[in-house]
Amino acid sequence: MDRGILVTGGAHGIGKQICIDFIQAGDKVCFIDIDEKKSIDFAKEYPNLFYFHGNVAHQLTLKRFVEFAMEKLQRIDVLVNNACRGNKGILSSLSYEEFDYTLSIGLKAPYELSRLCKDELIKNKGRIINIASTRAFQSEPDSEAYASTKGGIVALTHALAISLGPDVLVNCIAPGWINVNEQQEFSREDCAAIPAGKVGTPKDISDMVLFLCQQDFITGETITVDGGMSKRMIYHGDWNWFYKF
Ligand code: NAD
Repeated sequence: MDRGILVTGGAHGIGKQICIDFIQAGDKVCFIDIDEKKSIDFAKEYPNLFYFHGNVAHQLTLKRFVEFAMEKLQRIDVLVNNACRGNKGILSSLSYEEFDYTLSIGLKAPYELSRLCKDELIKNKGRIINIASTRAFQSEPDSEAYASTKGGIVALTHALAISLGPDVLVNCIAPGWINVNEQQEFSREDCAAIPAGKVGTPKDISDMVLFLCQQDFITGETITVDGGMSKRMIYHGDWNWFYKF
């Protein structure tokens, strides 16, 4: 389709599949990633795939990434804010600095990239797709940094949708458990815990990204793609579910 696509964290997992699917749709893709080795190998595979090395936690890096992308793509139609990393929380006494660093990667970078790409996205009637997690809505113990970052990106999504509409539609995807390490088999118990009967794949998420980029009546939404895992009501003793203390 000849669109200019920006993806963060494109060297591996969900971000890599998103890059591949846009390339295969005929678009040009520029991605940023901190993992230089994986990124260089990946970028070699496609002529319309461009790699910028950097850490999205650094503001100046984001500015340089967008300048580089404009040079390579000449236009920006879609921004996919995918990069993030897990982090712990209060039970581990996660430091103020570590908490802030997680926010820098998963929340401040999506805001700053949206700001830097705003004029291009408005001009091209573009799209922003943010990647959250079901951790935005439910928690395990000791997960404050990651949960807050993901909750933040859900709110950032509807705020941006209201500010940038109708020119730019902004949506978010909340993945559940996605097999990003090409694990071949999962136990019957792991599959049974997910109402859809399987662990998700990066393709399950990238299909939703591409769908959200081709529709024009959804904005400000967060769409959960988790095989129904977060929809299960659990009471102790039901369906062989037992709490262990
Ligand atoms: P992944 O670890 O497989 O890939 C993440 C990529 O981002 C890597 O290539 C990594 O090098 C890059 N990256 C990490 N920190 C970076 C930084 N500071 N600057 C630049 N690049 C950086 O991750 P994934 O599982 O594909 O996750 C992608 C997104 O999906 C994340 O936002 C994650 O929170 C979310 N998510 C994943 C799952 C899952 O089960 N895999 C579930 C819910 C949400």
